[in-house]
Order: sequence, then C-alpha cells, then structure tokens
Amino acid sequence: MTLQIEIVPILSDNYVYLVRDQASGRVACIDPGEAAPVLAAAEEKGWEIDTILITHHHGDHVGGVATIKAAKGATVIGPGGDSQPIPGLDQSVADGDVVDFGDERLAVIGVYGHTAGHITFHARHEGALFAGDALFSIGCGRLFEGTAADMWPGLRRLRDLPDETRVYCGHEYTASNVAFALSIDGQNAELQRYAGLVAMLRSEGVPTVPANLGLEKKINPFLRAEDPDFAQIHGFKDRDAVDFFAFIRAGKDAF
Ligand code: ZN
Ligand code: FE
Repeated sequence: MTLQIEIVPILSDNYVYLVRDQASGRVACIDPGEAAPVLAAAEEKGWEIDTILITHHHGDHVGGVATIKAAKGATVIGPGGDSQPIPGLDQSVADGDVVDFGDERLAVIGVYGHTAGHITFHARHEGALFAGDALFSIGCGRLFEGTAADMWPGLRRLRDLPDETRVYCGHEYTASNVAFALSIDGQNAELQRYAGLVAMLRSEGVPTVPANLGLEKKINPFLRAEDPDFAQIHGFKDRDAVDFFAFIRAGKDAF
C-alpha cells in the first residue's frame, strides 16, 4: 500500500477523503465541501494538507476549499473545464492528465454528465478510485449537465479498471441505491447478499465505502448496461448500451 486513506463524513451524506502518501508524507484532501471537519481530522492525525483535489464544481464538494487553502497554503487541483469555476483553482487538469503525488500517480479520468467537466482520480499503485459524484456503490451520478450518451463512455472506462480497485465515492447513497437495484434485478443473489451487508453496516452507522469494483461490476446496474442477460430481462437485448443505461438512469430518477 502506498497511501493511507481516511474517510471524513461531512454535511448530511458527503464523504471527504484525506489521503497521505506514505513515502513522501504528502497529504491531499479530496472534495472538501466543508473545511472545519477536514482540518480537524488532519490535525488529529498530525497530517499537513498540501494538496486539494476536486472532482466537480458542486458546493458540497468545494465549499471548504477557500478556508483550507488559506489555512494550509495547499495547491488546488481540479477540472478547469467544468461548467463553473472551481474556487481557488491553481492547476487545471483534464482527462488523460496524470497528477504526481509523492510515490503515487493519479490518473485523471473524465466522466461527464453529472457536471459537464466532472473528473475522477485513479491512484494506480494503490488501486483506489476517487469517484466524486460519477460512480457510487450500486449507483451513479444524476445527469444534471449532460445526457446518458455523455456519461456512459466515462462510466465504462471506470468499469474497465481492475476488479481489485477500491471505489471511494462522494456520498453515502448505498442503501437507497440498493433498494432501486433490487427493484430491477431482484434475482441477483450477489446483490441480495450485498443488500444484507449494507443494511447491517448502515444500522451501525458504518460507511459502505470503499466499494469493491469487482463486485460492483456484477451488482451495480449502471455498470451493467452492456450485460446481455441483464439487458434481455428489460427488453434491451441487441440495443445500444447507451439506451439501456438511459433507461436505468430514468428508472432511478423516478424511483
Ligand atoms: Zn455533485
Ligand atoms: Fe455531491
């Protein structure tokens, strides 16, 4: 393992991640929608935040940037190409870029549609994906600034990352996502098993993140838009994956 990763719950259901590269001692926080809990968590660990990574412009992901930047002199790295400016942005990155972070390298993968320029960060050595609001456990982001055709290619690239990838999502939405997934995939035994685990974890207030990407590939309906058996159940056999993805997304929006 190259990184130490701490989960900092903020607001009603957001997660901020504090990430420390063990070799260099560098510390990043990802999507700090609030400053105080993030600064307190870092202080408690004795970690000095030098980098702020941002996936997209929404307030619940950037609300704490100005305060943390002022307090720590941290460098703000995020999508300069999003539809709204990222506060305090120092370094604009886009799909295909790589951010050096101590011994770790973070590959930037664009997943568009939740916002027009949403990005995710894939820590390759660690096998961790910081997904923002693009991919959730058993879910994906709502299409606020794009179409299913915009989002599917990016989600597909996340799906194609290695099975052992751990997915650090921007929100704790898993329980409601599981309820929807069961409504369209109720015969899926692995989904049923996961539903039981999620219910147990949430009853104890334990985060369901990080999610395991290998399992998500089998039980997250949004990652299965190309699965012929799943498509057949819903009448989308031989149809474009984008159409089936759009159908699933619309179903969740109305659930
Ligand atoms: Zn968002
Ligand atoms: Fe969000």
